[in-house]
Amino acid sequence: MNISITKTTCPKEKPEASTLGFGKFFTDHMFMMDYSREEGWHGARIVPFAPLSLHPASTVLHYGSEIFEGLKAYRRADGKVQMFRPIENIRRMNRSAERMCLPQIPEEMALEVLTTFVKMEEDWTPSAPGTSLYLRPFMYGNDETLGVHAVHNATYVIIASPVGSYYKEGINPVRIMIESEDVRAVRGGTGEAKCGGNYAASNRAGERAEQKGYSQVLWLDGVHRKYIEEVGAMNVMFKIAGEVVTPMLSGSILPGITRKSCIEVLKSKGYKVSERLISIDELAEAMQNGTLEEAWGCGTAAVVSPIGELCYKDVKYPVNNGQIGEVTQMLYDTLTGIQWGKVEDTFGWILEL
Ligand SMILES: *Cc1c(COP(=O)(O)O)cnc(C)c1O
Repeated sequence: MNISITKTTCPKEKPEASTLGFGKFFTDHMFMMDYSREEGWHGARIVPFAPLSLHPASTVLHYGSEIFEGLKAYRRADGKVQMFRPIENIRRMNRSAERMCLPQIPEEMALEVLTTFVKMEEDWTPSAPGTSLYLRPFMYGNDETLGVHAVHNATYVIIASPVGSYYKEGINPVRIMIESEDVRAVRGGTGEAKCGGNYAASNRAGERAEQKGYSQVLWLDGVHRKYIEEVGAMNVMFKIAGEVVTPMLSGSILPGITRKSCIEVLKSKGYKVSERLISIDELAEAMQNGTLEEAWGCGTAAVVSPIGELCYKDVKYPVNNGQIGEVTQMLYDTLTGIQWGKVEDTFGWILEL
């Protein structure tokens, strides 16, 4: 595919590794292309990073037609840059697009534009331990009319942000509040699509949890308020009586690539993993009788985030004495090892630039 390139005339200074944080700094360029029913995808271009221009009637501003992805490029010790399972993000984005009536992008085209863009911005991939170049592809509907209908025009953009280590002060287990009022998603809704609206809908519960001193909420299903779904914007896993359990992909859960990778690593090491319904009663019982051995969230940003305390109906339950568990640590070491090229990738997950 033909990608036109306009280089910036004023390259920015790269930030100090210690100041990176998450999503605060952006690289010099961005990728864009447009879709229309008549022309399909066209106008592929890499241009200087700049604000977008939107018609005030643009679909995304009124009816929320937006999906996104999140993945990272990692700098290895030998200086080369690599990505982790990018094809999985591309496939998931197409599934999200299908759900939201946004146009899909042929896999080869999506991979080509992603790698071309990352190569262009490669120098922005930081090298300090735990740092990476976070890639944020996103797509929005932008018909310039207030009529409500499937999207006819869309724009696809990729931006990139050098990000700091998620665990600057070591891996600290987090405190989680089980949410019994708000729900994140329902089956048949948009829970399994990675769309901005899901985040808008979950902000209130997140804020309330924060005010009470918790870092995230554990979501229950929207129909029975009984089955465990996700933790904040991460998938969740438990080790109960020696077995790893995680909520099955029921339609309201985001199919995380870290979740999938954890399951594959666990199975390859001989652990028993089951994807099934997990009720809050089962979890409460395991917390009370001490069979809940470990709990952790998993997602691209943190890889794994150990849960040190769960609060349900104002009762606090410590998990593994507030310490990171053995399996959680193993998953962290294995996945980050593969991502930064310190552990051999026996799964074929790495795409070198
Ligand atoms: C992105 C996301 C995840 C994690 O997916 P990864 O592919 O592992 O990063 C989990 N839950 C929600 C709601 C998400 O948006």
